[in-house]
Amino acid sequence: MPSQERFAKGPIALFECMQQIPCNPCADACPRGAITVKEINDCPSLNEELCNGCGVCMTHCPGLSIFVVDYTYGKDAALVKIPYEFSPLPEAKTVVDALNRQGQWIGTAQVIRVQTSPNKTNIIWLSVPRELAMEVRSIRLRKQSGNMSSP
Ligand code: SF4
Ligand code: SF4
Repeated sequence: MPSQERFAKGPIALFECMQQIPCNPCADACPRGAITVKEINDCPSLNEELCNGCGVCMTHCPGLSIFVVDYTYGKDAALVKIPYEFSPLPEAKTVVDALNRQGQWIGTAQVIRVQTSPNKTNIIWLSVPRELAMEVRSIRLRKQSGNMSSP
């Protein structure tokens, strides 16, 4: 978990990769050399001063285990980038249901950007209430966008 001082500086990657499995494409993908996987079964460790929250590692992670959180995004909102492999993709500017790690509804989020690249994991940029930044880890599309109330 990054320090509060680091969160205050801008976006940073969060690794929710808890299982010791033979995997390390995140480390190979990071253009800043911020990720270390000492032994192939180790969980990755992050040099938080080298990470700039670009999200490149997210697009290479087969476990969908990496997120980016930016508390400097706004006064009341934080930016959360999540990996997303469902179809259809949401559209930018739409309001979606924000889900926690258990898939439970915890609020609403606005899609800021949909980042796609061939043969890589899609990344959804979300604006969420600051207090939900460490809880929102997935989304559910709504049939009608623009409604900020609970379902
Ligand atoms: S977000 Fe970017 S800089 Fe940070 S660990 Fe991932 S690839 Fe490296
Ligand atoms: S690529 Fe993803 S699953 Fe693999 S070690 Fe890195 S964070 Fe964990």
